[in-house]
Amino acid sequence: MNIHEECGVFGVIAEKPIDIASICYYGLYALQHRGQESCGIVVNDDGLFVSHKDLGLVHEVFSRETLSSFPDGLMAVAHTRYGTTGGTNRNNCQPIEVNHQKGRMAIAHNGNLSNAAELRSALELSGAIFHTSSDTETIAYIVTKERLKAPSIEEALSRAMNILDGAYSLVLMSPQKLICARDPYGFRPLCYGKTKDGMYVVASESCAITAVGAEFIRDVEPGEILIFSNTGIVSRREHCNIKEKRLCIFEYIYFARPDSMLDGRSVHSARIAAGKTLAKEHPVSADIVIGVPDSGLDAALGYSRESGIPYGIGLIKNKYIGRTFIAPGDRVDQVKIKLSAVRSVVNNKSVVLIDDSIVRGTTSGRIVSLLREAGAKEIHIRVSAPPFLHPCYYGTDIDSRDNLIACHHSVPEIAEIIGADSLGFLPVDSLQELSGNRDYCSACFDGTYPTKVPSDTRKNHFEQRLSEKMGSGFLS
Ligand code: SF4
Repeated sequence: MNIHEECGVFGVIAEKPIDIASICYYGLYALQHRGQESCGIVVNDDGLFVSHKDLGLVHEVFSRETLSSFPDGLMAVAHTRYGTTGGTNRNNCQPIEVNHQKGRMAIAHNGNLSNAAELRSALELSGAIFHTSSDTETIAYIVTKERLKAPSIEEALSRAMNILDGAYSLVLMSPQKLICARDPYGFRPLCYGKTKDGMYVVASESCAITAVGAEFIRDVEPGEILIFSNTGIVSRREHCNIKEKRLCIFEYIYFARPDSMLDGRSVHSARIAAGKTLAKEHPVSADIVIGVPDSGLDAALGYSRESGIPYGIGLIKNKYIGRTFIAPGDRVDQVKIKLSAVRSVVNNKSVVLIDDSIVRGTTSGRIVSLLREAGAKEIHIRVSAPPFLHPCYYGTDIDSRDNLIACHHSVPEIAEIIGADSLGFLPVDSLQELSGNRDYCSACFDGTYPTKVPSDTRKNHFEQRLSEKMGSGFLS
């Protein structure tokens, strides 16, 4: 809990001009869980781009009036963002739009480049001027640079993919084409589908495909470039099978919605499998199994099925919280605003509590307090992920060992800190079963990084105050 995914991407191409902004709206709505800081839509109106982007949730940024101000269009790209590189400001909202000598382009990106700092530095030394602090602009710059020499936008993207390293699922729009691509490792998901009336939809997760009434067709393969235009679909595969596939295992555990399929594996089934494994690995005698909403619920069901301990709804999430702003100094407990315990379920019971992760331990400790206040007699926490021991460089905010409680304390010590009667994590070697025997990235758990570890891991240089830059080696 409290880990953030960077983004959700969405793209659509129709056979004739339609109210395409509204389709993006519903697609983004289904991807809201992947990013809640900002969102944006760019509509292609016969080669002219019309956009709206801002900070806020999808329903806050796009009022009925804003949506109806968009023209009908044949194509659109859209994005919902949680920034793991680049701060929270309007400049960093996506999709990014670029006008260049050969036309224009709008680009939406999910992931982080592991060579972003080197690429940006080289571009700046050659005269590039950046307007944002996100590495999506670096991708946009490189694709544009390649486009000036390449015969087509897809060829430019293919050449850019020889230079980019790390995690990127992209949706890109030119005046005449909608293009999507997934990095050769396939860190972040990307898939596409089609509606009965011939509209193609590309999205980070299949839940957004079905949300707009389209049929899921398939995942975009790691390294694949798909080009949609009025002449049909073309798949380019020159970057496929050049790296080992490494879908982020944490997509199954936490990031993705349980009704999504990722690379052919149901997220719900993966979480049920994690719960079953937890029950086998860390059995306990208890009266009830409950989950921390939302991503702990499926694993709690799995634990209950395997152990025979009844499943209950012991925590309720406030669905209408939005982005309630609580200043750090406020005395209101953020966890209490988001969650409440169901006394009639947990009072005087020995409870197994399933959570998806423990990062700093602060949230887990507050949830334990909530359950104790509601009368829980014993609280046994089971975590449907292994302990976080290493930073992630591929599009999440697990950015430093300093913030990871498991780097500094043993399991019994963590149990004591958060106030649990016992604690058990998912073993690293059970991730294979969770993934349904796919290849995956688990670097934040085992330190096995698929790419070169970035030499420069400093983030948000451009949002640092002078005092914060002192000693960081970053010259202002
Ligand atoms: Fe996912 Fe962890 Fe790999 Fe990052 S390091 S991509 S969070 S599995």
